[in-house]
Amino acid sequence: MVQVNDHYLKLKAGYLFPEIARRVKAFSAAEPEAALIRLGIGDVTEPLPAACVAAMTDAVAAMGRQDGFHGYGPEQGYGWLREAIARHDFQARGCDISADEIFVSDGSKCDSSNILDILGPDNRIAVTDPVYPVYVDSNVMAGRTGEADDGGRYGGLTYLPLTAANGFEAPLPPSPVDLIYLCFPNNPTGAVASRQQLQQWVDYARAHGALILFDAAYEAFIQDPELPRSIYEIEGARSCAIELRSFSKTAGFTGTRCAFTVVPRGLCGRTAAGEEVELWGLWNRRQSTKFNGVSYIVQRGAEAVYSEDGQRQVRQLVAHYMENAAIIRRELAGAGLEVHGGEHAPYVWVKTPEGLDSWGFFDRLLQQAHVVCTPGSGFGAAGEGYVRLSAFNSRANVDEAMARVRALAKA
Ligand SMILES: *Cc1c(COP(=O)(O)O)cnc(C)c1O
Repeated sequence: MVQVNDHYLKLKAGYLFPEIARRVKAFSAAEPEAALIRLGIGDVTEPLPAACVAAMTDAVAAMGRQDGFHGYGPEQGYGWLREAIARHDFQARGCDISADEIFVSDGSKCDSSNILDILGPDNRIAVTDPVYPVYVDSNVMAGRTGEADDGGRYGGLTYLPLTAANGFEAPLPPSPVDLIYLCFPNNPTGAVASRQQLQQWVDYARAHGALILFDAAYEAFIQDPELPRSIYEIEGARSCAIELRSFSKTAGFTGTRCAFTVVPRGLCGRTAAGEEVELWGLWNRRQSTKFNGVSYIVQRGAEAVYSEDGQRQVRQLVAHYMENAAIIRRELAGAGLEVHGGEHAPYVWVKTPEGLDSWGFFDRLLQQAHVVCTPGSGFGAAGEGYVRLSAFNSRANVDEAMARVRALAKA
């Protein structure tokens, strides 16, 4: 009989979102007339920017003509998109990143786990707690961890707590690590990293020969122009960091699928025999072998994000969500709750009221306000005592949800 990948059996059952779905379904069955508002899911709600729609429509038409048809494209993405990304997202901010260091893909979620293909099995790995669950689960699946303990923490991983006490700044690991996952602006806490904080991490990585996987999926939500949007704004990052970026949250591409990963030339790892090898070549080989590129149509849509109209429309989208975040912050604070994040990220991280844990507050919001949030404990042990509210929604839904929370606080 065929053998399975035993590592999958280490994954914690009863994963966060299925459990939320189960409780929501049970509540809806009991109270079918309740109009639920979902502030839980990390998915965008507003339609694609018009510039992207127009570019994709043109691309579809071109595909139907003999002179506009495109078959397989380059596995790394079309040159015109890689050039636009390098120019607008990096060079315009003073980052020395060139088009051939950009690898276009169908998602950062996929890239963040695919990257393990080119990294050895014995790396010591650090993740934050709370954490975007994909970083952990992909390492479990690849056999890079031990078993989970009762608290859901896997053996072999170093967990870096993000807490109110440390201002949601990832502390340097107590013992050396080789691979560090950092996500800023952070999902789920909504925290953002300062230049000094990232410099500290880059210095650490260079001193220890470690690699930083920097997930900047939410960089467009940063409101303060002084804050770094890319790890490559930090001195020395080219020699120790890979950056993940996505059009998903920035331009509403969650269902359209386009992202990219930056692998600088000269960024090296070590072979088992101790020789230095450029990661660029390994990633290029990996993508050429296992990936066949993003569709021409979608890449034309992504390119339109960088047009004048596209830039204006994307700014409007981000402004819409950030206004939602501001409303959520203001209303929850007004209701006496302790709120974090939501200033440079579309997530607000809310301390549960006295006497309620994450699931307890989830249940209260569900049953008494008919609002669905995400329990912080689902993102890691240090997320216990918090819930995450997402700003990805219509203004009407956010206003209505906040009115209900206000009424609940008064009751
Ligand atoms: C939404 C999100 C992404 C984007 O993933 P895609 O696969 O590009 O849609 C990446 N990282 C984090 C932390 C996210 O929340």
